[in-house]
Amino acid sequence: MIPKINRRTKIVATVGPGSESEDMIARLIGAGVDVFRLNFSHGTAEQHAAVARRIRKQAHISGRYVGILADLQGPKIRISNFRNDAVELANGDRFRLDLELDEDAGDVRGVGLNYRELCKSVSRGDTLLLDDGRIRLRVDDVETTAVECTVLVGGRLSSRKGINRLGGGLAAPALTPKDMADIDSLAQIRPDFVAVSFVSTAEDIFQTRDLLREHQLQPAIIAKIERAEVVADEDTLNGILEAGFGIMVARGDLGVEVGDAQLIGIQKELISRARKMDRVVITATQMMESMISNSMPTRAEVFDVANAVLDGTDAVMLSAETAVGAYPVEVVSAMADSALGAERQPITRSSTHRVERQFSSAQETIAMSAIYAANHYDKVRGIACLTESGTTPLLMSRLSSGLPIFALSDSAETLQRLCLCRGVVPLFFDASAFDPDSVEPRAIEFLLDGGYLQKNDAILLTRGSILGHAGSTNIMKILPVL
Ligand code: PGA
Ligand code: MN
Repeated sequence: MIPKINRRTKIVATVGPGSESEDMIARLIGAGVDVFRLNFSHGTAEQHAAVARRIRKQAHISGRYVGILADLQGPKIRISNFRNDAVELANGDRFRLDLELDEDAGDVRGVGLNYRELCKSVSRGDTLLLDDGRIRLRVDDVETTAVECTVLVGGRLSSRKGINRLGGGLAAPALTPKDMADIDSLAQIRPDFVAVSFVSTAEDIFQTRDLLREHQLQPAIIAKIERAEVVADEDTLNGILEAGFGIMVARGDLGVEVGDAQLIGIQKELISRARKMDRVVITATQMMESMISNSMPTRAEVFDVANAVLDGTDAVMLSAETAVGAYPVEVVSAMADSALGAERQPITRSSTHRVERQFSSAQETIAMSAIYAANHYDKVRGIACLTESGTTPLLMSRLSSGLPIFALSDSAETLQRLCLCRGVVPLFFDASAFDPDSVEPRAIEFLLDGGYLQKNDAILLTRGSILGHAGSTNIMKILPVL
């Protein structure tokens, strides 16, 4: 039996030193992880490939579909190194960011940086944020190869910490040479999803897709929304949404650039826009941060996860909590409980979306009609969706409903990709193994045997008149479970 089959919200967990053992991966799947994230900001391509093999093996053993997301590092701008690894900065200190300073020569007076555009990208009076906003600097002077600052909020600053500008504006091309090399290495991982960091335009997505195609890879591409400029420009944002499979609300970097107060509304807007455009959305970063070292979350964290669920996110993500934290299994359970609590709210089960919209295909029409019918007829206990490419269940899952969408497919790629879609239960079912007339009763029997339905329930079933063709869904039926 699938654990917590009633949970609709998906959980993405980052694998790292605290969770990469075979045993831990098995336990995390048991606790409810739907997608594992391999973070290419850390580790080598070989390490990621080894972890990916363990994930596929353990998913197979568990009998569940689990996705793999490869998250490319992207052009995160970082300071260089300090001679003694870290410095203590006091409020009011002067501090220099110096392009000419040697890579390892940083000290309390300043540090190197290899971002050549620095002096063109900042002006006097700007606020620079280091280490996810923990340290704040005010720019006093911009020279040709250095920026002179005053420390507004000090503290310990260690080597290679990230740097952002309040309001955005520190940007480099999205795909770095390291990202391109990492894309080459993905041939041995065959991830279901590839996340592109610091996306600035749809071009970044197209370029990633082209590079992946050179290796015969066609993973779903997730654009990480983490730059202030992108959320400030509607056309750019829409272009990015259209170009990929989905987005990540990458609250770590985005929150630093726009400020947390702004982020509240931005998260809601990004989630709603993604769903309207038939895209998938992950809400990420510091969701249960305190569980890196505590065995239970704070109430604020429980409510943060719940809030993202109420906003309509497909998935919630864990970063350091599972990668390096002391309680990886516990945090996944805590997140699952929190999501379930939010999903009990009636608002998550009904939908008034698209009532005034024209549909653009038979497939969308069937998908929307099925959700409408399922939400309004209480004998229906679920939607069985015979699918090839996974598009119909994806479309269905863009609307709110309390009923499970059983995606029945014989394609592992399709089923793994659906691991990110809210409300979808991906199940292996090979319709071609049966003669066409008995496919429907066999599908119902399969769900009954799996414990997903009970006798006397009714089920809504969608399919194409000819099975096995992508995009051909044109039939919806309500069938009794006998
Ligand atoms: P990261 O992305 O964890 O790779 O920085 C997520 C974020 O910025 O929130
Ligand atoms: Mn980030």
